[in-house]
Amino acid sequence: MSIQENYHKIKSQIPANVELVAVSKFHPVEKIKEVYDCGQKVFGENKVQELLTKVNELPADIQWHLIGHLQTNKVKYIAPFIDTIQSVDSEKLLLEINKEAAKNNRIIKVLLQVKIAEEETKYGLEIAEAKEIFSNYLENKYPNIEILGLMGMATFTDNKNQVKSEFLVLKSLFDELSTFKKLETLSMGMSDDFKLAIECGSTSVRIGSAIFGVRNY
Ligand SMILES: *Cc1c(COP(=O)(O)O)cnc(C)c1O
Repeated sequence: MSIQENYHKIKSQIPANVELVAVSKFHPVEKIKEVYDCGQKVFGENKVQELLTKVNELPADIQWHLIGHLQTNKVKYIAPFIDTIQSVDSEKLLLEINKEAAKNNRIIKVLLQVKIAEEETKYGLEIAEAKEIFSNYLENKYPNIEILGLMGMATFTDNKNQVKSEFLVLKSLFDELSTFKKLETLSMGMSDDFKLAIECGSTSVRIGSAIFGVRNY
């Protein structure tokens, strides 16, 4: 199937109230343009350098989401234009985003990335850290940040029960924090597990390979 056929097929499987972030990492701008031409406006990249080279070659109305681990010394490069940073995994990073957002006279939208997977390799806040940051946020410690919600990645496994229980952990934290201030975005689900994620309450899925095909690392 062509990229455009893949895109329409995925779109048809996602309810209208669930956002689709098309994950374009490792794919060239020509392919991104094909998906953009189908009407897609929200794209996700996981590396700052790659994102910077693509931004200038693509339409200005694309909303770029950063979905990969972000080093504090790189925040300044994306602060002028980034729509949402989904991968906030430390308070230090959040403070730096807040500072750079202020310099650019912007409010930057973020998601707190919470570690729900078993794997040691996955970045993310512990649940207690996420709660602490959220309570600082409610006390206005980060005036140039808007916390839209949470992001998480489940363990890479065929065990659906495990993936489901990890998604439900994130959903329950989302509901708990929402009692203090209504959150709008629960970002969970990728090409292989997005249907399960939506069943578990996801409001935003991040899909790469099911649209663009396999990546050549
Ligand atoms: C690459 C990536 C995705 C997309 O993964 P696919 O399996 O290709 O859909 C989603 N989220 C994050 C954080 C990623 O790094």
